[in-house]
Amino acid sequence: MKQSESAITAVPLLDLKAQYLTIREEIHAAMDRVIESQHFILGPEVEALEREVAAYSHCDYGIGVSSGTDALLVALMAIDLQPGDEVITTPYTFFATAGCIARLGGRSVFVDIDPLTYNIDPAGIEAAITPRTKAILPVHLYGQMADMDPIMEIARRHNLIVIEDAAQAIGAEYKGQRAGSIGQLGCLSFFPSKNLGGFGDGGMVVTNDAALADKVKLLRGHGARPKYHHKLVGGNFRLDALQAAVLRVKLKYLDGWSAARQRNAACYRQLFAEAGVEVGLPYDAGYGRHIYNQFVIRSERRDALMTYLKAQEIGTEVYYPVPMHMQECFVGLAYKAGDFPASEAAALETLAIPVYPELSQVQQGLVVEAIAEFGADF
Ligand SMILES: *Cc1c(COP(=O)(O)O)cnc(C)c1O
Repeated sequence: MKQSESAITAVPLLDLKAQYLTIREEIHAAMDRVIESQHFILGPEVEALEREVAAYSHCDYGIGVSSGTDALLVALMAIDLQPGDEVITTPYTFFATAGCIARLGGRSVFVDIDPLTYNIDPAGIEAAITPRTKAILPVHLYGQMADMDPIMEIARRHNLIVIEDAAQAIGAEYKGQRAGSIGQLGCLSFFPSKNLGGFGDGGMVVTNDAALADKVKLLRGHGARPKYHHKLVGGNFRLDALQAAVLRVKLKYLDGWSAARQRNAACYRQLFAEAGVEVGLPYDAGYGRHIYNQFVIRSERRDALMTYLKAQEIGTEVYYPVPMHMQECFVGLAYKAGDFPASEAAALETLAIPVYPELSQVQQGLVVEAIAEFGADF
């Protein structure tokens, strides 16, 4: 492909610049407001964002934190996870989910995913419960919520806490309930590639539990109350005002962007059907709003397809190539290949293709065309 053509046909996995340009003036005004105030850590911008994101997530409380990872860490600290405590979660997720459990000395007890939704299969949870189980940590992967009714029912019966990893699912719904509002705590990420992405790291813990909200808030600032009097050993998990100001601007557009992702997903389904491409498409479980943080296709020839699309300058990514039970750092958990076949197969066969809101139909056509060509060629 010639250089001049590649500039026209290239389809990135995500185009943050395109989004920024649509709200440039507002973003600059918001950042200027913070810069003029010289109030950089927590403060009124963060408090306003906390109220707005909590309301958006159908929660009474929001506590802004430094990242989605820190949201998970501080949530697990808030439920007083102790060394040796077990947390039931999915092996098919971003590292932070299991990483935070391990950092507190907890043990991840993995339950395989439903091969259609890629989310934890509730049918496997009960058998994984032991006297040391403290919590269940479902992940709403790719923007579709886990099957929460059976998870909450099991949790209630066994007196377990549920923490939702909603890093990829802000605004997603399960039977009318928003991500983060069903379990005792919900963890959001504002990493730039998430549906609501900041200009750096950021996250939030949302909850309807006043006591847990207060504890997360305490832990976020080194457990100090008042200043220099430390009730708990917390950390610096604070969100800064510049991020909050940017995120407050973006939050107003989030519904429109998530709707655009849904439109793009529907467009892909139609284009793939018309082209007769036999690639696996995302399964919509019908729980309600899927926010398509990723549009993940599936092919037994995934690696060859990925290489082919790279040559066509179409951005793709594998989320995630190595399930958590097969990570080197978790050898101590003593799992082995074959323990979670649905997760292992997904790690080998799935591929995210561009679905970001500003993606045009022409670009989507190029993606589908390239995948159809691959199907014909190999
Ligand atoms: C992004 C993500 C996180 C971590 O969020 P950061 O803001 O990057 O720390 C945790 N869990 C899942 C499922 C994620 O996708």
